Amino acid sequence: MGDDERRLLLDAFDSNWIAPLGPHVDAFELEFCQAIGATHAAALSSGTSALHLALILAGVERGDEVLCSTLTFSASANAIAYLGARPVFLDSEELSWNLDPDLLANELESAAQRGRPPKALVLVHLYGQSADLTKILPLCEQYSVVLVEDAAEALGATWGNRQAGTAGRFGVFSFNGNKIITTSGGGILACKDKADAAAARKLATQSRDPAAHYEHSQIGYNYRLSNLLAAVGRGQIRVLPARIETRRAVFRRYYTAFKEVPGLVPMPEASWGKSTRWLSVFLIDPDKLGVNREDLRCRLEAADIEARPLWKPMHLQPVFRDCRKVGGAVSERLFEQGLCLPSGSAMTHAQQDRVIEIVLKTISGGRNSG
Ligand SMILES: *Cc1c(COP(=O)(O)O)cnc(C)c1O
Repeated sequence: MGDDERRLLLDAFDSNWIAPLGPHVDAFELEFCQAIGATHAAALSSGTSALHLALILAGVERGDEVLCSTLTFSASANAIAYLGARPVFLDSEELSWNLDPDLLANELESAAQRGRPPKALVLVHLYGQSADLTKILPLCEQYSVVLVEDAAEALGATWGNRQAGTAGRFGVFSFNGNKIITTSGGGILACKDKADAAAARKLATQSRDPAAHYEHSQIGYNYRLSNLLAAVGRGQIRVLPARIETRRAVFRRYYTAFKEVPGLVPMPEASWGKSTRWLSVFLIDPDKLGVNREDLRCRLEAADIEARPLWKPMHLQPVFRDCRKVGGAVSERLFEQGLCLPSGSAMTHAQQDRVIEIVLKTISGGRNSG
């Protein structure tokens, strides 16, 4: 956090506007839209609540099928389950690790033939990188599937000269503590249509109808962002470009240190955009390195350094075991071999050098014994 965040938070505090809603919420929505080129935005209590509201507004109902990237955090799929709808999990492509557009094309075609088109697609932009929207967007249009972009991990990622999360009817963003900028907790639902944004704000405030008394004609939720946290968000959105450069610099240091090591392969950056490198992710090929991902993760842990496996694909999760999946081998291999290295914006060079040193030492030990 910086001086702007402190000043804005104290301003909200001193104004005594300690409520969900307030001037900072309106200003945050506006400044967020200006920063990333979104049309409308509703500030919410989390990225998960933004996903939930997007799917409600997309008309998803009990029993509907909703397509979803399998390689993601569970929140993407949980929102589908909240509505009693059935997630169908689609595999990743090698190029970007995001949803495979060819699998999507096949699935949409066969769903149309079955006469059961899915209502929506939850498209995840993973670890700071945009999915292949040039192929995916026209497919959604052709088959009238509502595109919900889960850009919780990819605020600031580009696709051509546009931003991930602004192509679909809905874009979901998160300001949870682990994301590239944070309000400690919070989210935004970006909407193409003004009416969607207004409807999201209403659903998020217990669906109050306009009346002096409390009148409700639909079920609502308590999903609005507080004025205090919106103040923090206004300060954070200003530092987004600097944060992206820092994350990319962290990645570049790892990349430079590891580029001569066969079998230690970075997450690719696809040609259609610029990744924020929210996390620095590498694949560990045990055949070439003589150590596997878990060996390396445990060695780092023993040195008090936290590294994490990739998201375990949703089609492998016990809670979603009865769901349909399309493909799966690519994301399974990524899960098996992928490791997220420490990537925080506040990391010092010395701290990063320690990570690099332990990785290289572990690998040379593996090679000698293998
Ligand atoms: C973090 C995250 C979310 C959820 O955001 P919250 O603000 O924590 O609810 C959703 N999808 C993905 C892919 C995420 O990484």
